[in-house]
Amino acid sequence: MMKNESAELTKIPALEPAIKDSPSEKVASVFPTALTNAAFVDNLTFALHQHGFSNDTTLVATSLCCDEVNRDLEKDLKHAYGDHFSMGGLAGFPFGGVTAFCAMAHHIPTNGNCIVLFGPHVGVDSDGVVGKVNRRGRLESGACCGSATAAADYVHRVCRGDCAEHDSPVEALDAQQTFVGNILLPYGTRLAEAADPAVELPLALYDAQKDLMARIVARGTSAVGENVQIALVGGIQVNTPAGTPDYFVPMTFDLLDHKGEKLADLMDTLFLVRDNENELTWIIALVMYGLVIFYLL
Ligand SMILES: [Zn+2]
Repeated sequence: MMKNESAELTKIPALEPAIKDSPSEKVASVFPTALTNAAFVDNLTFALHQHGFSNDTTLVATSLCCDEVNRDLEKDLKHAYGDHFSMGGLAGFPFGGVTAFCAMAHHIPTNGNCIVLFGPHVGVDSDGVVGKVNRRGRLESGACCGSATAAADYVHRVCRGDCAEHDSPVEALDAQQTFVGNILLPYGTRLAEAADPAVELPLALYDAQKDLMARIVARGTSAVGENVQIALVGGIQVNTPAGTPDYFVPMTFDLLDHKGEKLADLMDTLFLVRDNENELTWIIALVMYGLVIFYLL
């Protein structure tokens, strides 16, 4: 057999290149209202400034998952408002509860306000896979949010009858994860029937956390001083690989008074601010272009 014929026989057909979404493209397709963290924080601070929230007298409280990939958003907020009060635990649930909220309320500067930011998180890895993230120093992407993924697996097994529902914990050993799983149980059918369970999981977690946070705020407002305004901000953090910005999907942006009564729904304002900034960018660009033309002539 000729050498060339042998090469022909053993030639491996070229694989069709897989068509994958970039992380940003995937985020835009599954969470179309997502803002980059930077845009979200800029728009948030701008919008709240119109309602009397100054950088020096605003205290930020967060309820975000323990996972280290979630700290970037808090760092961005720190540039505006300083260190935050942490209420959150596994999967982003506000496990600090009423006690944490009341303690935070007592730390608000005189004549100041507070921002309560809560929500679950979900990764989108370099292949555009939702529910995974590329972590520093690790070859393969892994589950993100890991706590939520484990809880969803528990819910799936309970719904199938493969395991019994866990009793509420009586010791702290792994109490938070047990609560995450049991709080997610009512969403079992919704998750099982979802077109994309990996996208539905943070949405279900968000609903559960919004309900819990509303009950905490309702119980905790007795500790909030008069004239204090509470910006209640909820949404989903989206963690992406290095080199791609992380995102926040705003889903609640309410302004509350010190009793927890809603003063305004600011969601629209949040997105209008972004549009206004784009318009301003265009105006500056046009002015610069005009100046260049003027000097050239
Ligand atoms: Zn997590």
